[in-house]
Amino acid sequence: MPEDFSADALVELTAAPWEWDSWIRRMRPDFSRHRAALPLELPSHQLVEFEPVRPGVLEKTLTVFLTNRECPWHCLMCDLWQETSLKSVPVGSIPRQLAHGLRNGGARDAQHLKLYNAGSFFDAGAIPVADYGSLASQCRSFRRVVVESHPRLIGKRTDLFQQQLGSIELEVAMGLETIHPLVLSRLNKGMDADDFRRAAARLRGKGIRIRSFILVKPPFLTDESEALEWTCRTIDFAWEVGVDVVSLIPTRVGNGAMEELARRGLFAPPQWSTVEQAFRHGVGARKGLVLMDLWNLGTTSDSGSAGDNETRSRFERLSAMNRQQVWIAP
Ligand code: SF4
Repeated sequence: MPEDFSADALVELTAAPWEWDSWIRRMRPDFSRHRAALPLELPSHQLVEFEPVRPGVLEKTLTVFLTNRECPWHCLMCDLWQETSLKSVPVGSIPRQLAHGLRNGGARDAQHLKLYNAGSFFDAGAIPVADYGSLASQCRSFRRVVVESHPRLIGKRTDLFQQQLGSIELEVAMGLETIHPLVLSRLNKGMDADDFRRAAARLRGKGIRIRSFILVKPPFLTDESEALEWTCRTIDFAWEVGVDVVSLIPTRVGNGAMEELARRGLFAPPQWSTVEQAFRHGVGARKGLVLMDLWNLGTTSDSGSAGDNETRSRFERLSAMNRQQVWIAP
């Protein structure tokens, strides 16, 4: 397969999924030393924040980023593999990581716990099923636990973990990304919108809350207004299938493949106005919570430096919109 491909050749390349998968992985910068050195007994990060649960109401949330093996999928835009170990973690390691995270003094009184593992909680090669009981017993002080999963891994292991949690509410965060059929297939996520719909129906049937990650301006939708339109259509789809929380992720570079697509004119980060209008569309429906991911909001295509006044004031306005769940005009 040629390393160098034109936009036209892309059609052929992505038609052979194994070649596309291999190209995505070859574009990665080398993180092997960093990944080999990750301690398997410690979370890779942890974070305490106040997240909106309804308009104007924030509740303390602890996020523990568990160290574990890489996700078996290799999505085109994913950079989460950079913080994953090169091998599976042994039974007992994940509960010890959580215990470490819970010793964080700042997390005292947190009502929500996000157990994020840069992949799928229900991937048995990442989080051993034998650890579910021990993890659930450490979650007793929380009202709600949020885990991530690929839609195709929703199944018996989800039921089992929910049973182990007992009265603690479970929320599952799944990447929907986009419902644009061609773009979703090129994201190499190994699913289509119907897979997401089926997973959502199963979760709802079990009384499990759903959060969905949606890309603002995915790759290949380089026209800003077309990208916004598809992001809005994807948000509408999420509400239609019963999602409780829409988490909007401005698409970013950072994993090698996305830089390469940007170099070929097949991707550019969204403009601020696209990010803001996607949020406006989401909250306007009043169907659930809409959270704009602010972690990388220095990376819109028209943002200035993180410290400049305009970037700061836009960031603060988006933070306020997240908290209040309303559109605030510039
Ligand atoms: S399924 Fe999620 S974690 Fe796995 S490669 Fe795709 S985006 Fe990354």
